[in-house]
Amino acid sequence: MREFELVVIGAGAAGMMAAISAAKNGIPGAQILVLERNEKPGKKIYITGKGRCNLTNACETEELFLNVPRQAKFLYSAFYTFTNDQVISFFEEAGMKTKIERGNRVFPQSDHSSDVIGALKRMMDRLGILVEYHARVRNIIATDDAVSGVELENGKTYAAKRVLIATGGKSYQATGSTGDGYSFAKKLGHSVTVLRPSLVPFNVAEADVIRMQGLAPKNVRVQILDHDRPKKILFEGFGEMLFTHFGVSGPLMLTASSVVNDHIAEKTLTLLIDWKPAISEEQLDKRILSDFEENQNRQFKNALSGLVPAKFLPVLMERSGISPEKKVNEITREERHGLVLLLKAFAITLTGLRDFNEAIITRGGISLKEVNPSTMESKLITGLYFAGEVLDLDAFTGGFNLQIAWSTGYLAGLHAAECFCNENT
Ligand SMILES: Cc1cc2nc3c(=O)[nH]c(=O)nc-3n(C[C@H](O)[C@H](O)[C@H](O)COP(=O)(O)OP(=O)(O)OC[C@H]3O[C@@H](n4cnc5c(N)ncnc54)[C@H](O)[C@@H]3O)c2cc1C
Repeated sequence: MREFELVVIGAGAAGMMAAISAAKNGIPGAQILVLERNEKPGKKIYITGKGRCNLTNACETEELFLNVPRQAKFLYSAFYTFTNDQVISFFEEAGMKTKIERGNRVFPQSDHSSDVIGALKRMMDRLGILVEYHARVRNIIATDDAVSGVELENGKTYAAKRVLIATGGKSYQATGSTGDGYSFAKKLGHSVTVLRPSLVPFNVAEADVIRMQGLAPKNVRVQILDHDRPKKILFEGFGEMLFTHFGVSGPLMLTASSVVNDHIAEKTLTLLIDWKPAISEEQLDKRILSDFEENQNRQFKNALSGLVPAKFLPVLMERSGISPEKKVNEITREERHGLVLLLKAFAITLTGLRDFNEAIITRGGISLKEVNPSTMESKLITGLYFAGEVLDLDAFTGGFNLQIAWSTGYLAGLHAAECFCNENT
């Protein structure tokens, strides 16, 4: 049986980068094999950034940590061994030009995610890395707490001194990431933390909210509160959101989903939307009063059109309890005050998150307690490595999740390569 120095399971972002790092940093000619269940590499990379691939973020390297809501410290060695700047240089050197957009998001200059995959593939070819497609791993073979090989679904086996699990999470399963890595790791004694969809839209309870589907306000402030402890703000943010046929989505709500992830798993939460974040309640009241004075003889339904988007107007009127036919000069101070409150704190009940098939990322994964953060090697099984989304790590949108995949992949590959160098000296 042919023996490989390193077998990488998964030709996604983390797996390809790990193989490249191992080949670049290891002894020349080291046998490295990547096994990918699909017919081609990087199916998930292909759909990232709406097909444009936001491959990293050009912020200061320290800021990467602020975009990882939990357990960011684990990434210290990974982020500093292969920084965001090094990721950009890596792709530039591989012949892919990049550009920086709003929020320091880095994209291929071509706007094609396929160029990211192409660059990785070229680099693997150049380094003589073997890649086998249609090769779904079924099992990792280990003897005496050390890996010795892998077994494919078709019965084929490969001997390996080191095996790296880079099988991704379990979101968008059509890309090949169905969570196989979790079972491999569990079988070898590793713990897997609770898995949940994250960077994912929310379902809501109220039917009137669904009627606003398609509306995408760009500058709203939101707060998410616990029903039982309404003074405790679980999330607060400003930005763009989207109303959909099931609830709420858009960049702001996706970020919120990673912050309130644990809370919403237990109970429904309240979302408060401030539709006029730039002005105070008093200023808004004055603005409405002056609109009403200008339109004294108009009916309520015709007096607010400049103030709120058309899709929101019928919902706002209904919730205000003011008859649409009422003349504005008959609207009472209390009624107007109620309207101001609705605009400053429009309440929606968040009933839960959408499922894995709509989630950008999986929250949870291989417990970090059992992985060495300086090498990405298992603390339980010699020669077993992890990289990418399969680990219990997730980040906000902006290129940070791919940065985790590149950095952990690079570090794992580097360390695996150091082992083959040490064995051969
Ligand atoms: C719609 C969408 C948009 C996104 N946009 C962005 C973005 O713009 N920027 C960003 O930073 N992040 C983005 N992400 C997140 C990012 O794609 C992931 O964090 C990243 O791809 C994780 O890389 P990975 O290598 O760990 O896993 P994956 O990319 O999921 O790769 C895992 C690979 O392993 C293979 N595999 C699985 N099981 C087996 C097995 N048993 N045998 C052999 N092969 C196997 C799979 O087929 C797959 O190719 C997005 C995610 C989604 C779903």
